[in-house]
Amino acid sequence: PFHSALRVILLACFAIAGVDTRFLAQAPAAPAQQAAAALPRVHMFATGGTISNRNGGRLTMDELIASIPNLDRRVRATGEQFLNVASGQVTMEQWLALARKINEKFKAEKDLAGVVVTSGTDTLEELAYFLHLTVRDDRPCVVVGAMRNPSTLGYEGAANLEEAFLVAADPASRGMGGLVVLNNEINSGREVTKTDAKLLNTFSSHDYGVLGTVYDRVQYFRKPVKRHTAASEFDVAKIEAL
Ligand code: ASP
Repeated sequence: PFHSALRVILLACFAIAGVDTRFLAQAPAAPAQQAAAALPRVHMFATGGTISNRNGGRLTMDELIASIPNLDRRVRATGEQFLNVASGQVTMEQWLALARKINEKFKAEKDLAGVVVTSGTDTLEELAYFLHLTVRDDRPCVVVGAMRNPSTLGYEGAANLEEAFLVAADPASRGMGGLVVLNNEINSGREVTKTDAKLLNTFSSHDYGVLGTVYDRVQYFRKPVKRHTAASEFDVAKIEAL
């Protein structure tokens, strides 16, 4: 009602001033699907870890995505359940299979903005570095986890996951390689390490510092210069074992 009243007043003013008002003609409302199609698309590979470790049954990939309020306003999220285990149980063969899957996904889907990988935090830094060296694409691969499980007061998994999606969807993340996103911070998979078994701010790149931050908006301060992803010498396409 406010807008229609405003429109009438504007039209009256323009009529008095003799202005051509055709530019004010109301555009047909954009269909919801059209708006959704314009959003960046991010694909998630869920592997398990504390982020999904709910008492009485682990959260599935679908449940994890559904736990982020209003994600569909920012990102078109798709996903698949790659594994649902503690990170210490993931084998090297599964790491290879995951890297290959991500490479195939990027190759086949040029409209994909980036990928998100959920992981337990025990081996998260190793997985992120591995993907930093073996995903052969400029588009971001963001590894994310949580320190508190979904049955704990103050579970931060959904917030971390939302941040991971925003980072993977952001064009500024291109060329940044394998990234780790937790606790509003973006770290390089090459540099980051887990420093504490309990604290939420456990992931640190020490003196290197964060690459950037994500508080609703993604902001970078520096870029990794060592060879990685698209410029990496490591091709896992035909490797069966590490
Ligand atoms: N033990 C868990 C894991 O690495 C820890 C975590 O997810 O934070 O899967």
